[in-house]
Amino acid sequence: MARATPAEQLARYDNRYRALAAQLADIGPISSGSLTRRYTRCTSPGCKCRADPPRPHGPYWQLTRKIDGKTVTRRLTPAQAKLYQEWIANDRRLRRITDQMRTITAKAAEIRLNEV
Ligand SMILES: [Zn+2]
Repeated sequence: MARATPAEQLARYDNRYRALAAQLADIGPISSGSLTRRYTRCTSPGCKCRADPPRPHGPYWQLTRKIDGKTVTRRLTPAQAKLYQEWIANDRRLRRITDQMRTITAKAAEIRLNEV
């Protein structure tokens, strides 16, 4: 099979790039941060969380994010955590797509830089 010409390669990169860019339009709300499930123990004497075996309180969902350089945590209800799960997954998808766009730009740059 004949090697693709630089122009053909560029056209392939452009098509792939446009397809990725189009996917960006479908991405819903995005959020940074991560979710963890936490169990806690209280200080009430005789509480089930201090029994043997212990039955801790929870699970609670905790959102951890960096805001203005500070790590901030927030407790969420299961329904709220579900929203953030989706927004964080959207954020990851966005970054996957833009990483690929950056890679394609870098490959295409090797051809384009020779043309100017
Ligand atoms: Zn307790």
